[in-house]
Amino acid sequence: MVAKVEVLETGQKLNAMQEDFVATVFHNLRTPLGFIKGYTTTLLRENTEWDEETVREFLEIIDDEADELQILIDNLLDSSRLQSGTLRMRFQDIRLDILLRDIAKRAVIIDFGMPVSVSISDDSMIVNADAARLTQVFENLFSNINKYAPDSSVTLTLTREDDQAHIVLEDTGPGLRMGDLEKIFNRFYRVPETMFGVRGSGLGLYICRQIIDAHHGEIFAESTLGEGTAFHIYLPVIN
Ligand code: ADP
Repeated sequence: MVAKVEVLETGQKLNAMQEDFVATVFHNLRTPLGFIKGYTTTLLRENTEWDEETVREFLEIIDDEADELQILIDNLLDSSRLQSGTLRMRFQDIRLDILLRDIAKRAVIIDFGMPVSVSISDDSMIVNADAARLTQVFENLFSNINKYAPDSSVTLTLTREDDQAHIVLEDTGPGLRMGDLEKIFNRFYRVPETMFGVRGSGLGLYICRQIIDAHHGEIFAESTLGEGTAFHIYLPVIN
């Protein structure tokens, strides 16, 4: 009898979790879609003439929101493939120092314009990794710094610890509370105080952890409130 009640309770919990999941997904999809629909309908209104500057401004919003939708759909797809173990990885032996320098350069020049100080103490480490997926992990961490810790000093360090590569990406932003340090890796978790006015789905760090797990590595965060946050990644080195 007890076992039956437990099974029922587990089933109910699963149903509730699935409902929460669906509600969060739909809410996140509806927001950018609402903007796209709203601004497009406004531009198409026949009884109003819009000056060139306004048209451009509205088109830029539509463009940004479409990008947002694209990122969200990609993240949702990655997240469900990681959940079901069907995300394909292409593992190759790669030089970690080269990959990290490229990623840092990209963060500075192309994506976020943030200066990153790179320190690599061992430039011979080779890891068996999916370069595109590792890049995705760092792009997400840089994107988070851009969103939650703008104007930070950012440092990226790589050192060897026995047979592990230890990477640290550190910012000097607002930091995180102890209670949030583990939760930020949960699917859909966003720190309540920082989520207003900053777009996101709470999927990024969940995906990062799943990708690092698939590399037999480890990712976690350390932080001091008001001083900054450091993301640590350990990856097994094969040489
Ligand atoms: P999203 O950015 O979509 O909200 P993430 O899973 O990437 O989702 O991040 C989860 C939460 O962790 C963010 O909502 C933010 O509150 C917090 N966070 C992530 N990176 C940082 C950082 N560098 N500094 C402070 N808070 C951060």
